[in-house]
Amino acid sequence: MPNDVKVTFLGGLGDIGRNCAAVEVNDQIMLIDCGIMFPEDGMPGVNIVLPDFDYLRQNAEKVVGVVCTHGHEDHIGALRYLLAEMPLKIIGSKLTLELAKNRISQSNFLDQAEFIPVEDNSRIQIGAFDLEFFPVTHSVPHGFATAFHTPQGVVLHSGDFKLDMSPVDGRLTDLSGLGNLSSSEGVRLLLADSTNADSAGYSESESAIGETLKTLIASKSEKRLVVACFASHIHRIQQIADAAIAEGRYILSLGRTMKTNIDLAREMGLLRIPANRIKPIEELDNLADSDVCVISTGSQGESMSALARMANGDSHHMAIRDNDCIIMSSHPIPGNETGVTKMLNALVRRGAEVVDSTHKLVHTTGHAKRTELRVFHSVVRPENFVPVHGEYRHMAAHKDLAIDMGTKPDNVLICTDGDSVVLSDQGIAKGESVSAEYIYVAGDVTDLGEQVLADRMILGEDGFVSVVLSINKELVLQKDPEVVSRGWVKGDLANDLHARAVKVVANAVSGEDFKSADELSKAARRALGKFINAETRLRPMVVPVIIVADK
Ligand SMILES: [Zn+2]
Ligand SMILES: [Zn+2]
Repeated sequence: MPNDVKVTFLGGLGDIGRNCAAVEVNDQIMLIDCGIMFPEDGMPGVNIVLPDFDYLRQNAEKVVGVVCTHGHEDHIGALRYLLAEMPLKIIGSKLTLELAKNRISQSNFLDQAEFIPVEDNSRIQIGAFDLEFFPVTHSVPHGFATAFHTPQGVVLHSGDFKLDMSPVDGRLTDLSGLGNLSSSEGVRLLLADSTNADSAGYSESESAIGETLKTLIASKSEKRLVVACFASHIHRIQQIADAAIAEGRYILSLGRTMKTNIDLAREMGLLRIPANRIKPIEELDNLADSDVCVISTGSQGESMSALARMANGDSHHMAIRDNDCIIMSSHPIPGNETGVTKMLNALVRRGAEVVDSTHKLVHTTGHAKRTELRVFHSVVRPENFVPVHGEYRHMAAHKDLAIDMGTKPDNVLICTDGDSVVLSDQGIAKGESVSAEYIYVAGDVTDLGEQVLADRMILGEDGFVSVVLSINKELVLQKDPEVVSRGWVKGDLANDLHARAVKVVANAVSGEDFKSADELSKAARRALGKFINAETRLRPMVVPVIIVADK
């Protein structure tokens, strides 16, 4: 029906990351966020994972732009890849847009973007979209919940949020504004952050972290300090800097994004660090240990980050030693736990003391826990609800919570990537599904493909065995096959298996009446695969190579 509103989920439902949803009103599409996911185990060599843009490609003429709810990578990191395919209006708070610009400028597509900054509680009309922006607290400043005023009523997207009652900048989640929206127009459909929907209670306020940092940093007065956190967590950086400066320390930033973001946030007046308390990292060695507070990237153990390089002993700027104390003011996001643990072990080996959130309250989540979600639902009172931003279990927990808070069970739909929901006069229902594959980026290759990943897994686990078959045009073997392997088995065992494999393959392709080289190749592969499995119980990749002689 012409008045229907459709929301199609291209990423972020079922995994944490690559958030992207397409809202369709009057044949126009506005995206909510366009983020990346960090690779998980089982994605060897993959740098990042993108949402599947296929649906947008097919409907490119309808796409107006993207509302960016906040400046995290899982919400803005894929913009540069979509801009390579289509121009976009990009709407968000000034800070969100600056963070997005920094990312997009790493590509050649900055001029494909038209940036439209919006203020807290402003309402704008862009194409068919009537949008209103409500402040929310999160682990990056100036995030929004976004209301789409549509022909089917209000569709409210929470953004990533928590209900921090004492945020560092005093900018609260606008519960009263949301309450007014609910009691005036009503919220027909709510899409809300599910990340912590299975965590009981109420998340700690960001301000509480500041208190811990003060006491902790004061207690390490003789040590050289390194504090790692997300470069976009401006309020955390503020609290680290405040605690360190109170102890007479200077602030040195390490890692490119940390320096860029500190400069940006200071320029925008969002971060207050006096210029005379900042020193360039190059001056580190001229300062006494007790005068130093390095704020560093790398809290997620990313291999090329400043902190990981220190752990590996190959940082140009800083060599870790006995008198160092490293505070991990962060928590590993899913998928990064192993990398972070390895890095911490390496830092401790080099003599550093490491303090992380298992010891002290040096980190808090940016996502609402169950009690906060209850408050949020009781304020918004949505008629229909779809949990977003979470693994499946988080979304399932959020569904139960919503029903418990009064949304009718039939009006709550759990969706995963590729699903769509249609809001009509009759209510909410699932619509057509679209492709929502993982799009793997590795190096400069933007779509590696499932098959390549599957091959990499086989290669990574059991290796590679190849057999070279030289045949004539009559498909008769001209000499013994040659077997070559990599990453399979070693030494004498390999020699023995290679020799026997030669015979097995030679047998399999001799005395048979093959109709084509392809058929012969398949027979060789089958025989070799069977032999390998019987002898080793391994399943390496088996690749026959056929060489047809001219004569
Ligand atoms: Zn976020
Ligand atoms: Zn997020």
